[in-house]
Amino acid sequence: MRETGIIHLVGAGPGDPDLLTLRAARLIARADVIVHDGLVSDEILDFARPDAERISVAKRRAHHSMAQDEINALLVREARAGRMVVRLKGGDPLVFGRGGEEAEAARAAGVAVEIVPGISAANGAAAAAQIALTHRDASSAVSFVAGQCKGLAEQDWAGLAGKGRTLVIYMGVKTAPQIAEKLMADGLAPDMPIAIIENATRSAMRVLRGPLAALPDLVERERVVSPALIVIGEVTAREDATLANLVQETAQ
Ligand code: SAH
Repeated sequence: MRETGIIHLVGAGPGDPDLLTLRAARLIARADVIVHDGLVSDEILDFARPDAERISVAKRRAHHSMAQDEINALLVREARAGRMVVRLKGGDPLVFGRGGEEAEAARAAGVAVEIVPGISAANGAAAAAQIALTHRDASSAVSFVAGQCKGLAEQDWAGLAGKGRTLVIYMGVKTAPQIAEKLMADGLAPDMPIAIIENATRSAMRVLRGPLAALPDLVERERVVSPALIVIGEVTAREDATLANLVQETAQ
């Protein structure tokens, strides 16, 4: 029996197709229409049926190719037409993915929603760079924040970073100078270790490390591009993690 009137909101993970869940891979393979954002790689889209319709609603900073309202309307329209709709998002749909907004819009329109979790960039990047987000000797708390939200200055990050804590910043490349300034103004030591993980789990992955004070320079000098995560905390400087990356670099 065909599933009708349902939108599957599916996490595609951080990039490597091997990090898709089985549920995600199966749904992608069955979908009539796949509405995906820019972070979803072609290798993942290749799981789709050849005759499936692929609609890209890629978002760029300050340039939305499709407004959120239009995306919501598109999903509802397609589901109501009886097509099997997969809304495919990078990472996890409910972590800075607007999955909540799309699920609300679907429910408001009387269309059922299934949410399939994905490996969020923080988890993918941490594993790939061998950085423990928590560690009994170094961190007992981890927070995810967005570095790109409106009103970065008004966001209260006090207490989220520092000794014994790990802060993971999504969408922070462009605002790296303001982020470093904000954290140091909140009392973080300029030599607090940080790592930048660019293109985590993809072939172009890079891991850069340094002290917090050098974050803006590191981003500029190394021409860090999106997608990248910034991780702040002592866990980024543990000897084992640094060593693992060295081994990885030498092996390439
Ligand atoms: N829903 C996604 C996040 C979307 S916001 C998730 O759960 O991962 C987009 C941001 O995610 C990017 O700006 C970047 O900070 C981060 N990101 C996504 N994929 C990434 C990757 N492969 N490597 C590093 N950062 C990534």
